[in-house]
Amino acid sequence: MKTEPVYLDHQATTPLDPRVFDAMEPFFSLQFGNPHSRQHRYGWEAEEAVEKAREQTAAAIGATAREIVFTSGATESNNLAIKGVARFHLQHGRHQPHVITLATEHKCVLESTADLQAEGTRLTVLPVTNSGLVDLDQLAAAIDEGTVLVSIMAVNNEIGVIQPLEEIGALCRARGVAFHTDAAQAAGKIEVDVEAQQIDLLSISGHKLYGPMGVGALYVRRRPRVRLTPLFSGGGQERGLRSGTLPAPLCVGLGTACQIAVAERAAESDRLAALRNRFLTSIRARVPDVVVHGDLQSRIPGNLNLGFDGCDGEALMTVLPDVAISTGSACTSASVEPSYVLRALGMSAALAGSSVRIGFGRFNTEEEVDYAAGRLAEAVQGIRANEQQPAAMVAGE
Ligand SMILES: *Cc1c(COP(=O)(O)O)cnc(C)c1O
Repeated sequence: MKTEPVYLDHQATTPLDPRVFDAMEPFFSLQFGNPHSRQHRYGWEAEEAVEKAREQTAAAIGATAREIVFTSGATESNNLAIKGVARFHLQHGRHQPHVITLATEHKCVLESTADLQAEGTRLTVLPVTNSGLVDLDQLAAAIDEGTVLVSIMAVNNEIGVIQPLEEIGALCRARGVAFHTDAAQAAGKIEVDVEAQQIDLLSISGHKLYGPMGVGALYVRRRPRVRLTPLFSGGGQERGLRSGTLPAPLCVGLGTACQIAVAERAAESDRLAALRNRFLTSIRARVPDVVVHGDLQSRIPGNLNLGFDGCDGEALMTVLPDVAISTGSACTSASVEPSYVLRALGMSAALAGSSVRIGFGRFNTEEEVDYAAGRLAEAVQGIRANEQQPAAMVAGE
């Protein structure tokens, strides 16, 4: 008998890798110094650790250490990138700078771009194809004289699809527009290279790659230099872009997590793809009409988003306390609205509401995957059998 629910919600957060915890621990105790203290060993040690972490983080995305700004997470990185670029242009007299983003972005991107409209920014929110990908012709057509920023996520947090970063980067570079990508679900999972993909700004989150919560990073290109207006006023840390004392233990955690992710990515990808395929094969054998949402080819290996027609997602969660999966994204699951991401793929509210996200990760085993697939299939069959009874009675009246 299992005691703990099987954790299959790795797009919501990932468990802290024990190796990351070990690397962080001394900086919570003996090496507690402020990395900005210049006059003694406590400060120097913390600074040295933070700078090593900066290098490890940069290396994971093909950047240099000086291009990394530590933040509190991808939400802050996205706000800093998007508001930072738009406000810089507003402050330097640009009339109605134009920003382009995608309908399936994380809420923190969509809300940042929406907030900017009140400050005089023009906004275009592009639709996606049925498989969840950007239409490159539509993107090219949307760029105009006033466009200053394109913000398109690398990997979607609900359906796991990978956007064509290289093509988007080439298009933006050719048109002289800055390209920001929210790589919270991509960094450490797929090949991300700011040079090859011509990315100017890139957001990372610690707790999506087996690092700690509460830390992230924003990559800011130096050549050609991307200019940003900071969000916070203060002591001018992080080259003036992000004031505030750096949390040395969290930075060390992010750096170590990046280093592990890079070293183990190839093997981990293969293992996760095998687990995912095993799960899907098992579900399809028992529930043949299951629908896979989002492109299955251009997708991270650790994600599935499945629709079970006539089977309410919330009801599924209720009968599956032993399997930790989710409906839609964690950030919007407080509301009962079906996922706006699935709706953007052209799906009916009914099918979007009958869908669950399954996220496989580093510590999942085949046994867990088999158990969870069996339980999910059983739950779907059970709910469908129950639904049919009242319907049959109505039909018999
Ligand atoms: C989790 C996530 C965020 C938010 O990251 P935090 O570090 O939790 O602020 C932003 N974008 C995407 C795609 C995410 O998955």
